[in-house]
Amino acid sequence: MNRFFVPVEWLQGGSAHLQGQALHQIAHVLRLAPGDTIAVLDNSGWEYMVRLERLGSKEATGEIVERRQIEEPRVRLCLYQGLLKSDKFEQVLQKGTELGVSTFVPLLCQRSLAVPSEARLRRWQRILREATEQSRRGRLPSLMEPVSFDQACREARGFSLIPWEEEKGLGLRQALRKKASAETDISLFIGPEGGFTPEEVELARTCGIVPVSLGPRILRAETAGIVAAAAVLYELGELGG
Ligand code: SAM
Repeated sequence: MNRFFVPVEWLQGGSAHLQGQALHQIAHVLRLAPGDTIAVLDNSGWEYMVRLERLGSKEATGEIVERRQIEEPRVRLCLYQGLLKSDKFEQVLQKGTELGVSTFVPLLCQRSLAVPSEARLRRWQRILREATEQSRRGRLPSLMEPVSFDQACREARGFSLIPWEEEKGLGLRQALRKKASAETDISLFIGPEGGFTPEEVELARTCGIVPVSLGPRILRAETAGIVAAAAVLYELGELGG
């Protein structure tokens, strides 16, 4: 079933009116016809089954024949990911979306790479949208503007963790089992390829962000972002709990 996220204004009075890129996809790429059914979402968490009735040059219209609520994670996981080479950052966006991450924040660290251009941010939004449609999520994750590490430490919500390969005492699972069960907001800080500086970890600690180990092996930054997000969501019952 083809799925399309559209502005809420396109859904009115029991019918859907699709224009622009969605119309192009329906008419010229998928070559759908009246009578075909598509899934349309307005980012409210509801999905609407729409039976196509008319495909015009300016818009496609259809009747909403059914609607259902899509289960989104109870846990709102915000992933502060140190900026990486773009293809690696895009992997984190795609896999994190499939897993159920709610918010992505590109993190400007002392050792992170250049700030992404406007064009790159638009590409990342498209990757989020495609991963959301493919994974049948009901809501698009948010991609925030890049923030400095200091600002991120000040704004992080809920139970906040910073995986750090030099942390030898507390493991991720212990930290989650101690504290996270009742939490609905979790923030996760992952460093860039060059890692966090000790000063950054110390600042995080003073802001109540808990350094944790992901084990004795050094994970690449993109691996750490995906694995740590999966582990948090698994531990909190969001991956088939
Ligand atoms: N210092 C690392 C090295 O020697 O290659 C570079 C940082 S690592 C590639 C990128 C990020 O992944 C780290 O900043 C940390 O957030 C996370 N990470 C990787 N392995 C980890 C581990 N075993 N425990 C905790 N965090 C880890």
